[in-house]
Amino acid sequence: MTTPAAILEVDNVCRTYATAAGPLTVLRGASFTLAAGESLALVGPSGSGKTTLLGLCAGLDQPSAGTVALAGRELGGLSEDARARVRNETTGFVFQNFQLIPSLTALENVLVPLELRGLRGAAARAAEQNARALLARVGLGGRLGHYPVQLSGGEQQRVALARAFVTEPRILFCDEPTGNLDGATAAVVTELIFELNREKGTTLVLVTHDAELAKRCGRTLRLRGGEIVADAGI
Ligand code: ADP
Ligand code: MG
Repeated sequence: MTTPAAILEVDNVCRTYATAAGPLTVLRGASFTLAAGESLALVGPSGSGKTTLLGLCAGLDQPSAGTVALAGRELGGLSEDARARVRNETTGFVFQNFQLIPSLTALENVLVPLELRGLRGAAARAAEQNARALLARVGLGGRLGHYPVQLSGGEQQRVALARAFVTEPRILFCDEPTGNLDGATAAVVTELIFELNREKGTTLVLVTHDAELAKRCGRTLRLRGGEIVADAGI
């Protein structure tokens, strides 16, 4: 049964990858439910399955067994197109390695999720203003026309964050959002993420090794060897 206030329901999710050496099981029956507005830190050693679990929760990948429901819709029952629509309408995602489009400028990269919505006229102009304002917020107002290759790692990370924020997602997934940032920039980015949580009620799911960032989250899930071994702070 779907709890009305649950934005994310993960039930007994397993993921096995096919590798040259045979099947490799990296998630072994993870289950948890997130209420709208919660902030969750996903922590655990390298290789414990954090990135895999994040991708499954966001509908970027499909579980080998078990189910994921986002905003009350079970992703496994949807076509690829329908799943992409749920992702665009509901989620923002910040990848560990940014995944910016190399042939687009910083501003154009941030506009991609809005263009997928097919905005026209005044709505498109308002969206572009919002994208410019977000890039200025993360300190990149002077880099709008730069291509990813012309940006430092930390700058690319901030473009990726602006791209995830621009649709005002109901749930924001971030894989090590401060991992490539210096202390001062990490603090700005952390502030921005929690402002979104506070002001817009955005649910947060953050994979992180950053103790400061994890401490700000209301709840911590610890993964080890593909299993949830602790769930604290609800
Ligand atoms: P974490 O983010 O906690 O470091 P990951 O979810 O990235 O862990 O990876 C968990 C395990 O799954 C690792 O041992 C990794 O090598 C393996 N893995 C991840 N993606 C793939 C893939 N596409 N194919 C095969 N193995 C993978
Ligand atoms: Mg990872």
